[in-house]
Amino acid sequence: MIETIPASRCPRCEALVVPPAAYCPRHPVAMVPTSVAGVGDVVSFTTLHSPPEGFRSPLHIALVELDGGARLVCHGAETRGLRIGSSVAIEAVDNVYYFSHLGMLDRARLFWRRAGRAGDRVNAIARSLAKRVWRGR
Ligand SMILES: [Zn+2]
Repeated sequence: MIETIPASRCPRCEALVVPPAAYCPRHPVAMVPTSVAGVGDVVSFTTLHSPPEGFRSPLHIALVELDGGARLVCHGAETRGLRIGSSVAIEAVDNVYYFSHLGMLDRARLFWRRAGRAGDRVNAIARSLAKRVWRGR
């Protein structure tokens, strides 16, 4: 499942910030709490084998850019198979953000969401494709 994660948006410049902040980083305007889909693309990632105190080794972290443009640092269980540009799912637990590989089902959901299609429209497209394929046999 694609979760939603807490964010905040500036009412003046529309900047989206995750984790939520009280004030816009660009000007002293109070931000409005909102939530965004917990999916994004990996901008960069690394594995720290000598992490700061309090963290287990190895520590996998990734810089992820959300669909809305906000960037945040996430923790992960592993970075194996991860590439720059990989789509990942993000979950927030107690203000800590975790990334994980998107499953096949989530990837399909993300594809249709980004294509701006959902629900009835996806079903209509699927039905018309199926009709074309089966009629052709
Ligand atoms: Zn702003």
